[in-house]
Amino acid sequence: MTEENGCLLCQPINYPLIWRNDDFRVVLIDDQAYPGYCRVEVIKHIKEMTDLSELKQQSLLKIVLQVEKALRAHLNPEKINLACLGNITPHLHWHIIPRYKDDNHFPASIWSIQKRFKKDELSEPQSQTLIKLIQEALDG
Ligand SMILES: [Zn+2]
Repeated sequence: MTEENGCLLCQPINYPLIWRNDDFRVVLIDDQAYPGYCRVEVIKHIKEMTDLSELKQQSLLKIVLQVEKALRAHLNPEKINLACLGNITPHLHWHIIPRYKDDNHFPASIWSIQKRFKKDELSEPQSQTLIKLIQEALDG
């Protein structure tokens, strides 16, 4: 699947790019109900964790954990949800979602039936700080 045949993640990305290397990228999902929600995506069409080499599995998990760490440090959420679903796109990806007791779906997953209708965006300085924290963690 390529850009021509409509793979969404092969298109130029709509989300702020936080970091990337040749294999993976981290984007800040622009979700008003879930401020700080990030996604770590495999750039190529690779569907399963076990399709990656062991080395790349470790790199991917390390990136996911660094993003989790930065989100916890910056936003102090009640819980971080890590999810690797990917039934729609052939790009393996991890969702890293800061959760709060009063968020729109808590304690259920963010893909379940909505319980509340709150909007809660990061301010521009908050976004910039978070982006910098993740970049420093991944470049360091
Ligand atoms: Zn694609």
